[in-house]
Amino acid sequence: MNPQLDEAIRQRGKAFFASIRGESPSIFNKGFWTGKVMDWAMQNEAFKVQLFRFVDVLPYLTTGDNLSRHIEEYFAGGEAGDIPAVLKWGAEKSGLFGGVAAKLMGKAIRSNIEGMARQFIVGETTREAVKNLGKIRKDGFAFTVDLLGEATVSEGESDAYRDGYLEVLAAIEAEQAHWKPFGAGTDDLDWGSAPRVNASIKPSALYSQARPMDFEGSVEGILARMRPVYRKIMAMGGALCIDMEQLKYKAITIELFKRLRADPEFRDYPHLSIVLQAYLRETEHDLRELISWGRAEGLPFGLRLVKGAYWDSETVVAKQMGWPTPTWTRKPESDMAHEKLARLILENSDLVYFQCASHNIRTIANVMETAAELGVPDNRFEFQALYGMAEPVRKGLLKVAGRVRLYCPYGELLPGMAYLVRRLLENTANESFLRQSFAEGAAEDLLLENPAATLARELAAHPPRPKAEPATLDGLTAFRDEPLADFTIAELRTAFPAAIAALHHKAGQTLPLVIGGQALETADRLPTVNPADPTEILAQVCQAGMAEVNQALAAAEAAFADWRDKTPRQRADVLLKAAAIARRDIVALAATQVLEVGKQWDQAYNDVGEAIDFLEYYAREAVRLGTPRRMGREPGEKNHLFYEPKGVCAVIAPWNFPLAIACGMTAAAIVTGNTVVFKPSGLAALVGYGLVTIFQEAGLPAGVFNFCPGRGSVIGDYLIEHPAVSTIAFTGSMEVGLRIQEKAAKVHPGQRYCKRVIAEMGGKNALIIDDDADLDEAIIGVVYSAFGFQGQKCSACSRVIVVDAMYERFVARLTEACASLAIGPAEDPTNAMGPVVDAAGQAKVREYAALARQEGDVLLERQIEGPGFYAPLVVVAGIRPEHRLAQEEVFGPILSVMRAASFDEAIAWANSTPFALTGGVYSRSPKHLDKARREFRVGNLYLNRNCVGAMVGRQPFGGSKMSGVGSKSGGPDYLLQFMEPRVVTENTIRRGFTPIDADDEWVE
Ligand SMILES: Cc1cc2nc3c(=O)[nH]c(=O)nc-3n(C[C@H](O)[C@H](O)[C@H](O)COP(=O)(O)OP(=O)(O)OC[C@H]3O[C@@H](n4cnc5c(N)ncnc54)[C@H](O)[C@@H]3O)c2cc1C
Repeated sequence: MNPQLDEAIRQRGKAFFASIRGESPSIFNKGFWTGKVMDWAMQNEAFKVQLFRFVDVLPYLTTGDNLSRHIEEYFAGGEAGDIPAVLKWGAEKSGLFGGVAAKLMGKAIRSNIEGMARQFIVGETTREAVKNLGKIRKDGFAFTVDLLGEATVSEGESDAYRDGYLEVLAAIEAEQAHWKPFGAGTDDLDWGSAPRVNASIKPSALYSQARPMDFEGSVEGILARMRPVYRKIMAMGGALCIDMEQLKYKAITIELFKRLRADPEFRDYPHLSIVLQAYLRETEHDLRELISWGRAEGLPFGLRLVKGAYWDSETVVAKQMGWPTPTWTRKPESDMAHEKLARLILENSDLVYFQCASHNIRTIANVMETAAELGVPDNRFEFQALYGMAEPVRKGLLKVAGRVRLYCPYGELLPGMAYLVRRLLENTANESFLRQSFAEGAAEDLLLENPAATLARELAAHPPRPKAEPATLDGLTAFRDEPLADFTIAELRTAFPAAIAALHHKAGQTLPLVIGGQALETADRLPTVNPADPTEILAQVCQAGMAEVNQALAAAEAAFADWRDKTPRQRADVLLKAAAIARRDIVALAATQVLEVGKQWDQAYNDVGEAIDFLEYYAREAVRLGTPRRMGREPGEKNHLFYEPKGVCAVIAPWNFPLAIACGMTAAAIVTGNTVVFKPSGLAALVGYGLVTIFQEAGLPAGVFNFCPGRGSVIGDYLIEHPAVSTIAFTGSMEVGLRIQEKAAKVHPGQRYCKRVIAEMGGKNALIIDDDADLDEAIIGVVYSAFGFQGQKCSACSRVIVVDAMYERFVARLTEACASLAIGPAEDPTNAMGPVVDAAGQAKVREYAALARQEGDVLLERQIEGPGFYAPLVVVAGIRPEHRLAQEEVFGPILSVMRAASFDEAIAWANSTPFALTGGVYSRSPKHLDKARREFRVGNLYLNRNCVGAMVGRQPFGGSKMSGVGSKSGGPDYLLQFMEPRVVTENTIRRGFTPIDADDEWVE
């Protein structure tokens, strides 16, 4: 930046500060409850966390008891100290506190927090909102009205969101004639350029099923409801701004903005705006692209530039998912980006009507001075601020710029609380300009400093940490999970249909057995089909008979000694190579699952990702366990514990995680030095064959892995009972798992091993919905856990146990949400649910659907016709623990809803089945969450999230009771099951002489 401009910005900023000296935003005014509480929160991080969490749960605390209990749980004792005086302040002042019942204190706290929320909301009803909008205009501010209510979980809710806009617009229409335009207006426009009516809208709320994977469906789904709103706005001569939400919706939002703007119906109407966020690294690219598009199309448009409201969540979510951080990570970088982008927009002011939305005086001064330098006419840009915030800034802006618009949310307090939490976070963040200027009194010079200089200072004081990961064992980097599918990447979205088309093209191929490294075709073949269209035979799979199984076992036995004698690192290297190959081919491997078992794109991708994780994780684990461990430190004696493989392992894999589980069991066996005979599920043999190609390319010696599909239990039993097999790794149903254990226990002639069985079996998993659960999250979590991949996961939620007080609200929204799911082939990303895997599965689900009609009250049953194996989606209420539907595993899209009188009863019911695999609790009560940790006895318990999708190394997976035997897959104990520990003891004393080693115990 040139020094004159920088100086002008600083001078402008100083004048701005001078014009508002002594003023403070009301949220920091310590004369009131809010200001005092904010002050305390900024001094005490633990209290701040509890306070914001409490604000979030408050609208759900509808009874006095519940309220008092939560106040106690959140604020009494613990890290935050006792209930701070500041929180009780209103109660004391009004004489309610001091021996008076906790309930009265609760009431006062509630009313104070609701008051705080109202400060940011222009009204709870349309009437109140419109009245206040009129007042705002009287004060000289324009407005943009926004309807609160961001998370819609069903199409009914999205309809309501659209209708809410139509309602408020109709009410405003009646008023707008009374509102005189600001400035020297012509054509009823404020400042000669801007319509008086302005609305802002959250696109994702307009289509409950919006998600990046279904890009086209999301764009059109949102537009279908946005069009009537924009049509109404155009009829009123107003303007619409499409807010920008989380990154996952960005590409969808830009696309729908372009389509709406270019729509023949609206093309000639220029008052449509979009928001871009300076905190995203890729925003400059988006902006340049939008400008080029506008020029090419001859379509002027509006643009609000913000820094961005979701910094914390974007950075955290990216870390959890394994994605690169999409935002700038140092605050001055976002400030710099805002300044750079502002200039670019102002340079194109003939095309783009600029809306600068910031409460930062440096950022604002930059826009003013840059506009002046470029000679941008006043009526080509305006300033925006949030209602209820930064009052001094907006006042100052009105004085110096005149053109100020307030962003005015309106609506019920329940969604209002979520909005309040965001505003509180924004005001109290350490990096916040408002906090630094008005609460901490930072020096003006620093606040107005060029952000490039601030950044340089920060970098000098806190240089970036070196990126390289520390090397761990044997030069290997630390394990990290494979990034989860990111469908915001356009290339990934287009790669799927291409890979699926290629598979259709190859349909009908013959899959041989692979034994001792040789392909072997047999006459007995079994087709594997597409469950969405069973007439499509994807492959004819050669079946092993007993002779071939013998051959495979002989090959595995022959390969064993050499493979056993390789070093753990040599074996690990093969796994690492296999991981690289699977990573390279991830979309093709995932597409196979989409077609062969009907898995949705994202879940198929993540299944392959999990297979890669198993390869990477077990490779490192094998190296870790491969170093002999000295036991005891007594001198004159050396004891070493080490592990050896057991021999030949039979891997019997399921079809539901067709690559991940097959790969996990196989990888564990081979990396520990065993050899494998692999029997894939007949329903997923094509996916299973993927392992053959991966291991072959990775250089696994012939005979170590033998691919041996075979018909049902006959071949399975033969394998299990065979004396050459030492270990059986199985994942599947409880019936088969128990039978394997029984058969494996019997010793056959010639057998030299006590067989070990590792069996992952079924689940009857429950999610508990407490009376204070966040319903937006809970419903999305339950629907995904119950119906993702048609409920055919051992971890799937098949019971939802709802605490009485929450029952009606939860069930009404849940049923609507389930009714909104699109059902159809997994090939089409619009569909959230597809067909079950085969006709037997379909028949079983139908039987349980009939049982649901007998045992409970069916709230929803969606029958889907089609050539595919579609099974009904059922939500059934009135189920009690004694019902079969509460006890038996269905493995399909049937969800039982149970109404528990209390949280304690819910936990007791959750534990009341023979299974103990996964479970979860949605609750915002710290005590209840704690109780669940102790008493909800399942292998994998999830608090406040869905109960599926365990990650290798982070959530080692597996259950107890009838859910399985053995240690958790993807965890530190898993490999031990495939090995025998041995100990060698050497007496090192010879004729009284013994060398003393450094790690020997000292002889005193
Ligand atoms: C009228 C209006 C409408 C808005 N509409 C939207 C919208 O549609 N979508 C949206 O996302 N936001 C929107 N916002 C922006 C958002 O809500 C915040 O108000 C805004 O980001 C705060 O920026 P600031 O310049 O006022 O404050 P400052 O205090 O100068 O900046 C704070 C911002 O810096 C960024 N930041 C904080 N820490 C870091 C860090 N470590 N590294 C990098 N960057 C960091 C964050 O974006 C944070 O919000 C809107 C704001 C206004 C005023």
